[in-house]
This record gives sequence, C-alpha cells and structure tokens, in this order.
Amino acid sequence: MKIVLKFGGTSVGSGKKIINVCEIVQKVKKNNQVIVVSSALQSTTDELLELSENAKKGQVNKKIINDIVQRHQDAIKDIIQDKKIQDEVFEEVSSLIKDLEKTVEGVIIVKELSDKTKDKIVSFGERLAVPIISAKLRDMGIKSESFTGGEVGIMTDENFGNASPLMKVTQHNVKNNLSNLLEETVPVITGFIGATQQGDISTIGRGGSDFSASLIGMCLSVDEIWFMTDVDGLLTANPNIYPNAKTIPQLSYDEAVEMATMGAKGMHARALEPAKTANIPVRIKNTFRPDVSGTLINDQIIVKPEEITKAVASLNGLAMITVAGMNMVGNPGTAGEMFGMLGRNKINIIMISQSISEANITFLIRHEDLRKAVSVLQVSLLGKSGVTNVTSDDEVCVISIVGAGMKGTSGVAAKLFNAISKVDINVQMIAQGSSEQNISFVIHESDSKAAIEAIHKEFNMD
Ligand code: ASP
Ligand code: MG
Repeated sequence: MKIVLKFGGTSVGSGKKIINVCEIVQKVKKNNQVIVVSSALQSTTDELLELSENAKKGQVNKKIINDIVQRHQDAIKDIIQDKKIQDEVFEEVSSLIKDLEKTVEGVIIVKELSDKTKDKIVSFGERLAVPIISAKLRDMGIKSESFTGGEVGIMTDENFGNASPLMKVTQHNVKNNLSNLLEETVPVITGFIGATQQGDISTIGRGGSDFSASLIGMCLSVDEIWFMTDVDGLLTANPNIYPNAKTIPQLSYDEAVEMATMGAKGMHARALEPAKTANIPVRIKNTFRPDVSGTLINDQIIVKPEEITKAVASLNGLAMITVAGMNMVGNPGTAGEMFGMLGRNKINIIMISQSISEANITFLIRHEDLRKAVSVLQVSLLGKSGVTNVTSDDEVCVISIVGAGMKGTSGVAAKLFNAISKVDINVQMIAQGSSEQNISFVIHESDSKAAIEAIHKEFNMD
C-alpha cells in the first residue's frame, strides 16, 4: 500500500520523540511505500508567532530565538549518530536559523509585519523539523529526502495566513514531483506550508499539516492517510472536560467533518476534504501507542440504533453577535451586506441563526475577532439597512452532537434539550444543518462541563 504518515507537533516534540516517529516509519515501510508529512516541533509555531509580533513592535526576543535554536540543535545532537549526516543537518539547520534571524531583524527595523512576512517567519517551524526527521531516517539506513510544501508543488493563492491550495496545479505538480521517488526514498515534507505563484511561502491556517497530508495523499492517490497524534483517535467528548470520553472506532467523512474543528484535538477544518474527494480512508492514531487501532474515517455510514449520536463536540473561545432592527423585516440584502462586510474583513463565521420574525440575526465568531467585527458592523450598518442595534456576548461556547443516525430520526432534539433543561442550563442559540448530522447550540461557557455530562448520560454514550 501507499500511506501518508502525518505527525503532529507533540509527536515530534524532542529528539527522543523523533526516534519513536522514525521507528514507526521504519515499521510501516516494511510492507508499504511511505510519505511523511510533519508539523513543527512542539511549541515552535506559537513561539514564532510571538517572535513576529514582538518584532513588529520593534522588540528583540532573544529568548525565543535561543530556545528554538537549542531545541533543534539538541535534537540533532541527541539522535543522529553518523558524523557526516550530523554535520550536514547541522549546516542545513544553521542556514535556516540565519535566514530566520535576518527576516526578524528586518521586521524589527521597519516595525512593520505584512501577512506575507509573518508566513515566512512561522514557516521556519516546519522547515526546521523536516531535515532532522529525514536525517534520522538516513541515520537508520532508510533512504530519505526532505522537502518544503512549495518544493513538492503545493501552490496556493496569496491569502497569507490562511491560503487555499490551487487544486489543479497542485495535483499535477505533486504527482509529477513525487510519484517516481517513492520506490526509492521516503520523502519527509513540511505540513502547513505551500508557495504562491510568485514563489513566496504561504501557510494554510493553524493546524494545517493535516490538510497538507490529506492533500498530498489525494495527489498521489494513496491507499490510506494516517494522522499520528497524541490521543488514541477521535473521542466522544473532550477528555479534559469529560474524562470518561471513549475513542470512536469509525466515523463517516461527513460525521468527522461535523466535529473536525471541535473537540480536544481540533483538526484543520479542511483536513478531510481532499481525502473525501478521493475516497481515501483516514486513520487517527496515537504516535505513542501505535498499535492501538484508533479512529477510522471513511465513506461508510454505519448507523446502529444505540448510536444515534456518536460524539458531543464543544468549542470555547467564541463570541456571539446579534444584529437587530425591526426594519430589517422584509428588507432583502441586510444579511448579504453584513456577511459580505465580515468576509472582506477576514472574519470567519462559525454558526448563524435568524429568527423567523427576521428582526434579528445572530452569529458566532472567534473571540479574538469580536472587537473588529462589532466595529465593522456598527460603522457599516447602524442606521442603514434597518439595523438599530449590534450587541455581543463574549463568554459563550458551542456544544454540538454529531451522528449520521440523527438523520430522519425524530425525537433527538427533544431528548437533547430535555437533558439540558434538566440540569438547568439556558440555551442562547440553536442551529441544525439540513444534513441533520449535527445539532449545535450555544450556552454560557461555564455551563459546558455540565452540558457535556448530561448529554453523555442521556444518550448512553459511556
Ligand atoms: N505547526 C502548525 C501549527 O501549529 C501546523 C500544524 O501543526 O498542523 O498550527
Ligand atoms: Mg500543530
């Protein structure tokens, strides 16, 4: 078989962990062709983001640079035995660090940080990781070469920070660049980054390595894509909130998409899109317990009567905005104008509902977008389009029950809200997509634990 193995940041957190990763690769490679996609070493992306924000204010952050250098150099020293391979990878990493330092110095001088430069700075996380993993594989006697996303042909638009791959070209390029290599070598490719048509480095959104892996898998028509992480698979709930949560053995693509961005281990929102398009099974497995089978995501829609709901996903860090006005009633265009305005300001909408009275529209966004969203809406809509009021609530969370079995089954919503009312929780907003595989509702953030427990109990998910 041909398999993409994607390792998340916690899987490659240190030299020792990289050895574990390489041993997994070695084992899987015995009977298969393997393509490795890796995230940055744990914490590195966050640190690079902080570094770039400091630089924008003209501040030098020596500590972060030193930590990053130390982490990567230690990993090399700790795990690469062959002197020649060690020297090579040291040199490669040093030259990347020099480039990073120069880029940051430039930002410090001008105190200006474009999205393009920020992408270049954060890209160093993955770019520093892959040469080390690849070197360790060579050190173990496995032929391997490292690549950036751009080098293998992932081409994106110029929406730096959240760029979208240009699918047709990417498919063509990746296939051309990698297909012939796989017989002989294990490519180790940076997740999260691509390049624009101009050749500038772009990133495809936080957690984007999953998306990269799925995309590369589609381009190469692989048999399976494995997301190697630090939990045993997708769980029935966030274990930090609900310790009794269980691993879900199988989900359909659509069920998994419904909970992709939620839960303990949020996946990139688009991570499953290429895999689903090419009908490639995805496994979510634990790097530290690779023999556990994990969660399989494929095109099978398996509905058992006792499993109407398969998971309770939750998402914190959100804010709810309500745009209201009696004159919005029967006034076409308000919603269009509102969402168009938010879209142009790069504010992502997470959930929407409008009452039948048409006198108010409520939607959810990320907490960090709240200030900008309210100001954009007030400036553009107040007094126009019938809007008289823009209000917000910033301590909310969404709870979502997911399961293909809900489609066409009556009484699920009744059971859900009955469970919630029994524990005296106030529901502020509700939405159900017409796919009927998900019912989502908004409550106060402090009620999330009680709500998840109540739902687990009501639907016998333990
Ligand atoms: N390193 C990137 C991040 O932390 C991408 C990834 O981990 O998937 O967002
Ligand atoms: Mg990550």
